[in-house]
Amino acid sequence: MNGEIQLQVSGLVKRFGEETVLNGIDFCVRKGEVVVVLGPSGCGKSTLLRCMNGLESPDAGSIFLDGEAISAGGKNIAQLRQKIGMVFQSYDLFPNKNIIDNITLAPVKVQKRSKKEAEEQAEKLLKRVGLWEKRKAYPRELSGGQKQRVAIIRALCMNPEVMLFDEVTAALDPEMVREVLDVMIELANQGMTMVIVTHEMQFARAIADRVIFLDGGSIVEDSKPDEFFTNPKTKRAKDFLQTFAYEKRRTNIN
Ligand code: ADP
Ligand code: MG
Repeated sequence: MNGEIQLQVSGLVKRFGEETVLNGIDFCVRKGEVVVVLGPSGCGKSTLLRCMNGLESPDAGSIFLDGEAISAGGKNIAQLRQKIGMVFQSYDLFPNKNIIDNITLAPVKVQKRSKKEAEEQAEKLLKRVGLWEKRKAYPRELSGGQKQRVAIIRALCMNPEVMLFDEVTAALDPEMVREVLDVMIELANQGMTMVIVTHEMQFARAIADRVIFLDGGSIVEDSKPDEFFTNPKTKRAKDFLQTFAYEKRRTNIN
């Protein structure tokens, strides 16, 4: 991490009808930093990420990538959005295209790169996550965990500067969660700037450089992970963490 600010969210407000979901969000993400966003269901985590890559336009405030505004539907938004990759809970691969074509579609169509060059990069990326053998397979022939790894590769093949992850393991069977989290850990180790929403608390603690806790439309805590998980400052964060303590308690009883 070299301290340079890559992504900056400033005074972000987002409303849906009467409901103010985000009520003045300020934070920045430095180059190579991994920020994990936590908070109760419905607190606006997905809305925040969607604003950060221009899928939602804020009612107030701005988001800057390398100092350039990406909100407000500016004319360069399409180009800036290519620099911010996003992966969702549902992988949405095209069922009628094989894996390599799924991955190279946007690089070829949107970035106007040659099919050959895009395929070479896609194959390299697939090798990295152990899925090169599946390059000609169709999505239905892959497990959920494999499909989600392909979805991550698809985003990476656009050569983004920042990656946003919104609960990418939430829909997976438990035995497939690890293989997807491992890909994210490898990316973090390689210095990718990342903003991650997850319910995997051990993973969050392990991967985060910083934890942001969102509640009631605001950032309630912005801490180092060890500090957040061992000594949360607010009752709301304590209550939130308590909801994940069930398994530990049960182990203690047994
Ligand atoms: P989280 O990801 O933290 O669970 P969301 O960002 O999905 O929360 O949602 C925050 C709030 O905004 C919720 O109350 C949700 O119902 C509302 N919301 C999200 N997207 C929309 C939308 N497109 N239209 C109306 N309300 C929305
Ligand atoms: Mg969400």
